[in-house]
Amino acid sequence: MRLVNLTKWETRDLRKLVSATFRAYPVDARKYVVEVRPRRRLGTRGYAWYGLPRIVVFVPNPSLLRKTAREYEEMGSGFRPPTDFDSVAFARVLTHEIAHTLGVRHRDMPPLKTINADWAGGFTVRPR
Ligand SMILES: [Zn+2]
Repeated sequence: MRLVNLTKWETRDLRKLVSATFRAYPVDARKYVVEVRPRRRLGTRGYAWYGLPRIVVFVPNPSLLRKTAREYEEMGSGFRPPTDFDSVAFARVLTHEIAHTLGVRHRDMPPLKTINADWAGGFTVRPR
């Protein structure tokens, strides 16, 4: 698996999480290219090519998470948005995208939110 990391998150940490997610699938992870790109908003998104071993996942950079947390604090809303990398959301999105590369379409998939990726909570991805 080739990991292309265009974010400010630690590549080694991302690689561990990506590899662990692939282990759940009967696919040859070695031929995959996974690109992780920064997103300008909160949340984790992704896309993939039907039948091709290529996936892009978008995550907010650490600086965006910190900036958002500061803004909420200044508003005094009491709401504390997360400042850590969301490993569970990442694994959930990657799982969904792997299914797409196998040719699976949305009508044949469970909704993203129902994909259980709680195991990924044990994976920490640090800022670099
Ligand atoms: Zn999809």
